[in-house]
Amino acid sequence: MDKSPKLRNDRTWCFWTSAPTSFDDIIAHRWDRMAYRDERGERIDHLQSYQYQLLRGIDFYRHTQAALADFPGLDIRYGNIQEVGEDRNGPFVILEGEKIHASWVFNSCYTPPAQVDRQSPKAGLLQHFLGWTVRAEREVFDPHTPVLMDFQEEQGDFAHFYYLLPFSRREALVELTYFSPAVLPKATYRTKLEAYLKRVYSLDRYEQLEEEYGVIPMQGGPVDTNPHPHVVRLGTLGGAVKPTTGYAFLRIQEQTRQIVQLLEAGEPPKLPAWRHDRFAFYDDLLLYILREQGHMGKAIFSRLFHHNPMDRILTFLNEQSNLVQEGLLFSTLPKRPFFQAIWALYGTTGTKTWIQPFPG
Ligand SMILES: Cc1cc2nc3c(=O)[nH]c(=O)nc-3n(C[C@H](O)[C@H](O)[C@H](O)COP(=O)(O)OP(=O)(O)OC[C@H]3O[C@@H](n4cnc5c(N)ncnc54)[C@H](O)[C@@H]3O)c2cc1C
Repeated sequence: MDKSPKLRNDRTWCFWTSAPTSFDDIIAHRWDRMAYRDERGERIDHLQSYQYQLLRGIDFYRHTQAALADFPGLDIRYGNIQEVGEDRNGPFVILEGEKIHASWVFNSCYTPPAQVDRQSPKAGLLQHFLGWTVRAEREVFDPHTPVLMDFQEEQGDFAHFYYLLPFSRREALVELTYFSPAVLPKATYRTKLEAYLKRVYSLDRYEQLEEEYGVIPMQGGPVDTNPHPHVVRLGTLGGAVKPTTGYAFLRIQEQTRQIVQLLEAGEPPKLPAWRHDRFAFYDDLLLYILREQGHMGKAIFSRLFHHNPMDRILTFLNEQSNLVQEGLLFSTLPKRPFFQAIWALYGTTGTKTWIQPFPG
């Protein structure tokens, strides 16, 4: 039975880019500046090479549906997938009880867990957040300057910060984000958001236009070795999320582009399961610190943002920096937690063993 989904604006995607993307026509907001805040003050940087862009979920869904409508041979089916697997007739999905075989199956079905195993540092962390789009009674926001991280709040065991995307002087999306092993009751994020809007923007009265809630896995590779040779995992399930930031949108576009290229060349559309490079190593260290010494997160981000130009940070987070840029950036960070992380992860066995693959 087909169930056409009712399209709704369930998320906003933001990314920084120095080049055009396929979504230039439907970008809702663009910013050329970015701010970071903590008790040391606010740092605002003009972006030199990048633009921070916002794509609304609803615009993306409509855009892709319209693009798919141009392919008349396409049969789109909606429903619950009970199984993805492979037998001697090839890969298959079981959709609402019906088994459908194909030459290749591309699987991006992912449901985030509510918590990871607290006892096992191998299980990584979750990035979980809840945000509101608000219309304030007064003009309080700077429409030119999104706040990437506001760390002014006292930290507990795990790093958390506020994120603010201003759409006008009165409208903004404001989110509370945690890096921790378990999600919180939704009421907790809401209470804290209310307090934040009052404390920082002196706002008692505002209209709540939309609410966004999300959980993103923060987990280094390798992604689960796929038992089915003709099933290709995509997106979050395919390890496209950068584990320390949760940013995935442009990485998913790149993953998809490479798969299309392979298909067009008549080659198996399989990508390497995970990157084994220095950026994976950097991510492992930061993830370890955020997990084992979460209170250090604020100190690290504070040094990072107060002592480096935003472009250098964004290039690094895009994994496009060179060793010189990385050396400059690392020289500004507290050394001790990173050496402790290296020792904990590599000191005894010489191999990184603490990160588990995704669940099947
Ligand atoms: C609220 C939110 C905001 C985000 N914002 C950003 C951002 O600003 N920038 C950025 O770079 N990244 C962001 N991300 C991370 C990432 O870009 C998104 O999660 C992105 O949507 C991942 O795409 P995906 O296709 O892998 O997974 P999803 O978009 O999560 O799609 C997986 C789909 O599989 C479906 N599914 C699961 N199981 C089944 C089943 N059994 N049968 C049928 N369907 C099933 C789910 O319902 C879901 O629709 C955000 C994530 C969230 C959750």
